[in-house]
Amino acid sequence: MRGVEVRLENISKRYGNTVALKDVSLNVPRGSLFTVLGPSGCGKSTLLGIVAGFIEPDEGHVFFDGADVTGLPPQKRNVGMVFQDLALFPHMSVFENIAFGLRVRGEPEQAIREKVKSVMELVRLDFQEYAGRMPHQLSGGQQQRVALARALAIEPRVLLLDEPLSHVDYSVKILLLEELKRIQREAKVTTLYVTHDQSEAMYLADYLAVMNYGTLEQVGRPEEIYDSPVSEFVARFFGDINIFPGEVAGLGGASKIGVRLERTMLSKTEPRVGNGIVGYMSGRIVEKIFQGPHVLLKLETDYGSAKALLPRAESSHYNVGDRVFILVPRTGLIVFRQRGSGRY
Ligand code: ADP
Repeated sequence: MRGVEVRLENISKRYGNTVALKDVSLNVPRGSLFTVLGPSGCGKSTLLGIVAGFIEPDEGHVFFDGADVTGLPPQKRNVGMVFQDLALFPHMSVFENIAFGLRVRGEPEQAIREKVKSVMELVRLDFQEYAGRMPHQLSGGQQQRVALARALAIEPRVLLLDEPLSHVDYSVKILLLEELKRIQREAKVTTLYVTHDQSEAMYLADYLAVMNYGTLEQVGRPEEIYDSPVSEFVARFFGDINIFPGEVAGLGGASKIGVRLERTMLSKTEPRVGNGIVGYMSGRIVEKIFQGPHVLLKLETDYGSAKALLPRAESSHYNVGDRVFILVPRTGLIVFRQRGSGRY
């Protein structure tokens, strides 16, 4: 299996008055696991459909390894897809489900058998035990593996996954995310994974694009986007953050400041500005939520609500009702400048 580099150039797509994609350009490096994260309706599925070839863009081009595939039908693009509702063929065995694409291509029986065996091994489904089963005789997680095996059997140049885990229980989801990462690394197939779930995106992505209203707000490595989000929307959609009104000296124009929850510090005594602290405000703890290794404290301040995520040991000093000072540290401070139309 060999992945291609996928490049989207100035893609736009409308449905009547709805702008689904607006001048989207994107480079997906060969063999990478690229996650597109955004709220429902922002254009993620449309983007995947355009890469797969079953949706035609109004404008723009799709390139696989530099070759323009924009006009090419899906069957000629050699892409594997897994959707939210899996769409396994209910009256076909696991073997036949996985073999489907190979049969359509008219591959010889022996080659089909070998390929089905090898992709079942890749997704860790025992051939003896599962090849003959029908989809309804499998757990949700196993069905997921079959769907993935079916997509991989055709040795796709690009693997497209559209919210494949949204119907899966949390514990199974974690397991499948780990598996997916392993499988993707072993298969070395360029993968586009679409989700509205930030924890999935954070877990999986080599690269990430955060989407909103048909545009890509930010593209980069997950750490980059988490530490340096370009907008309030990106900061809130990829992680949680405290955002306060804040004049930043020398910047000019309106701005806000943001601090990630784990960098938000508390103190019972009034702090002094300087020494790594750029400001502080007073507040009151209104809720304390146990989260395993951390405790989430919810606070009310004169500037609205805020949160702090403290290690458990540290959190024992703080109780609901306590008056505290919320410290804004210099390290990790994120500044959002006004971007027009009231957005930051
Ligand atoms: P997402 O996958 O992020 O939920 P979609 O790509 O499915 O978003 O949809 C983007 C926008 O385009 C939405 O406003 C949606 O309602 C609209 N849309 C998608 N497909 C169609 C269609 N076939 N006809 C009309 N509107 C559509």
